[in-house]
Parts: sequence; C-alpha cells; structure tokens
Amino acid sequence: MLYAGSCLCGGIGYQVDGEFKSTSHCHCTMCQKQHGAACGSYGNISVRQLEWRRGQELLLLHESTPGVFRGFCSTCGSSLTWANQVETPDRIAIALGTLDTPYEQKVTKHIFTESRVKW
Ligand SMILES: [Zn+2]
Ligand SMILES: [Zn+2]
Repeated sequence: MLYAGSCLCGGIGYQVDGEFKSTSHCHCTMCQKQHGAACGSYGNISVRQLEWRRGQELLLLHESTPGVFRGFCSTCGSSLTWANQVETPDRIAIALGTLDTPYEQKVTKHIFTESRVKW
C-alpha cells in the first residue's frame, strides 16, 4: 500500500510506503490542543516508510515534552507528525487526518482516554 498525504495549504506533501503498524485516537490534552479537536488520530510507521515529496522545509517541530516532537506546517498550521526521538527514534506517527489516500480500516485503539472530552 502507498498512502499520500498533505497539509491544508498543500505546501507539504508526503508518502507512506506500506501499512501502518498500529493506529490510535489519542485523547491526551496535548493532542487536543495541537489538533484543536477531541483527539489526535495517528498511524504509526517506521521512519523508513516516510518520504517527504515536497515542502519539508515548511515543517516546524514543537518539542511538547522532552524528546517528543510534533511536526506542523509553518504556513497553514496542519498537524502532521508525532515522534519520540529519544525512546523510539526509528518510529514516527502520521496524523491520519492529513491523508489524501483514503484509510479504510478502523483505528485500532484509543489511548489516554482518562482525558477524553465529555462533548
Ligand atoms: Zn501547509
Ligand atoms: Zn496525545
């Protein structure tokens, strides 16, 4: 499987080669803030599966906790990536909402549900 994705303004484009190793809806308060939504939805892959097709220079990284970097587009603000570069430097998570190729499977797990929103 080959998945294509991009940010809201289209400046950043990427490609994922192969299937996601796992997927999750993350209900932690940091994902709520970053995504401006009830949760952040991610597909976890090996960094070797990810190829930036355009605009990688537009990607900014916010270190939300030590070693954890959240990537977003400096033009439009789209949340694109999550990575723990200390504990799992060979893994990266892609925000599923930025996929252009439809992802047709169910997300496998909900995490940090203790901070799940009531609305
Ligand atoms: Zn953008
Ligand atoms: Zn989270």
